[in-house]
Amino acid sequence: MAEAGTLHDAFIDELRDTYDAERQLTKALPKLAKAACSPELRDAFESHLEETRTQVERLETIFGMLDEKVRGKHCDGIAGIIEEGKSVMTEEFDEATMDACLIAAGQRAEHYEMAAYGTLVAWANAMGHTDAAELLQTTLDEEKAADEKLSTLADGGINEQAASTAHPVDVVDDAPARAARPASKATKGPSSTAAKSRRR
Ligand code: ZN
Ligand code: FE
Ligand code: FE
Repeated sequence: MAEAGTLHDAFIDELRDTYDAERQLTKALPKLAKAACSPELRDAFESHLEETRTQVERLETIFGMLDEKVRGKHCDGIAGIIEEGKSVMTEEFDEATMDACLIAAGQRAEHYEMAAYGTLVAWANAMGHTDAAELLQTTLDEEKAADEKLSTLADGGINEQAASTAHPVDVVDDAPARAARPASKATKGPSSTAAKSRRR
């Protein structure tokens, strides 16, 4: 008679899923880096790629600690997120908009990982696997930092730049439906509008 699986079994399963997710990401991050126009964004993806390789090794260490074979189990969740990221890259967006979309794709992946590692840390602690919990927490902190770095880049100019191309007229004005307003009511003259729309 088959015995019911325990939280420990679920934990090992989740580790295998996450191991596979990290390995998928080591293939996807170079694509995001290559598609990025902003050098800072490219650097962010490339440095997170390096971290991700370390995260893969960290999971291998954890399997060893738990006397488990190093084995992945296909992670459908991250595969879907990566698919969506790839489809964004085939769009013909202006440079800043493409970067904004790559950030959005990257942050979806980071949040998915944060959810996975949050669970893994909690389960490891609950079962007294404190060494594994510590390693998993290190990765969780890296995922959070990667997510914050992407927010900083988005807020630090990329979104504004993309928005100024979408809405060249008085882009700093946050009044609703500004694009629909007649040009004569714009606070800035036509020449400054043209200059803004050309700005990269
Ligand atoms: Zn256990
Ligand atoms: Fe990761
Ligand atoms: Fe990550």
